[in-house]
Amino acid sequence: MATDIINLDHHATTAVPPAVWDAMRAAPPGNSSSGHSLGRVARRAFDEAKERVAARLGAHPDEVLFTSGATESNNIAIFGAPPGPVAAGPIEHSCVTEPLKSLARRGEPVTWLPVAADGTTIVSDLTDDLKLVAVMLVNHETGAIQPVVPAGPWRWHCDAAQAVGKLPVNFQEMGATTLSASGHKFGAPPGIGILLIRRGVTLRPLTFGGPHQQGRRPGTEPVAFAVGLATALDLSCDAMEHRRPHVASLKARLIENLAACAGTVVVNSPERSSPYVVNVSFPGLRADQLLMAFDTAGVACSAGPACSSGTVQVSAGLQAMGMPEERLRSAIRFSFSAAQTRAEIDEAGRRIERAVRHLRR
Ligand code: PLP
Repeated sequence: MATDIINLDHHATTAVPPAVWDAMRAAPPGNSSSGHSLGRVARRAFDEAKERVAARLGAHPDEVLFTSGATESNNIAIFGAPPGPVAAGPIEHSCVTEPLKSLARRGEPVTWLPVAADGTTIVSDLTDDLKLVAVMLVNHETGAIQPVVPAGPWRWHCDAAQAVGKLPVNFQEMGATTLSASGHKFGAPPGIGILLIRRGVTLRPLTFGGPHQQGRRPGTEPVAFAVGLATALDLSCDAMEHRRPHVASLKARLIENLAACAGTVVVNSPERSSPYVVNVSFPGLRADQLLMAFDTAGVACSAGPACSSGTVQVSAGLQAMGMPEERLRSAIRFSFSAAQTRAEIDEAGRRIERAVRHLRR
């Protein structure tokens, strides 16, 4: 096992910069609901965190709800919406597809939208009876940038977990009704996320308790985590424009390196995709074998939606793209951080090539 692991799994989570920990440590300790001065200082910090998030994402501060992460945000947006027909692509993250399957089991009409070969959900044939359409911004597996959902009688819920902090996101301009994001995908620790809720839109809360956050998510407000998320978002947005070309060059370099691998390598990510991720198949090999071999060689990456006791499920998202079985079963996701260098990617390429040659012998 290599000790100097090269992390190519930054879509799973990201490192927390020291400035984020510092801001969290400096956050006021009081309960933001308390009526005394300590509470008022904490309330100010929490409200300021909302203002900073709103300013970065083109939203109003009263449209920002802090949650525990994108899973919770997606669940609130889906289960909190008025009942009625829902549509979504099968390429959505499991924290969107599983709530929808649960609605379907309860008898709600759920339509699975078609997916084009490039991994984008087709939204041209939405029907006027729909109450909710869930279409993400950047796909977590391929990075495919998804289409804007046209305005209609429906609500558009957009899971932007793999976009916020990496690509420009403007809630107002997009026209989404609700939008979720996850702090740990852009430099905050796991445990804090956002749901943006357009002014005037009501959502039934999933939990009941105090009047916190306009009663939309009762529970003592996570002041230090909200300050951490706002700081991480500020840092990410300030650096976004110079990080993007660098990360794009890392992705291009890895693809170039993989082309040197023994045998065929197929890039599954479309041209119009996030620079932070690439999905690649190694036909003739199996994703679980590849993952293990790469891990032993010192490259961390991921495959499939879930991995337990060495087996990788075939991704429903990749399947929906109509990919042949051989590519489906050998698909691996590599994802990048702006802190990485070209030398690191070249070393990863050499390790991957050696591992693939060994498996193909
Ligand atoms: N949505 C997408 C697109 C994701 O990639 C992820 C995490 O991988 C999530 C939602 C879930 O986010 P969280 O870990 O904050 O619940």
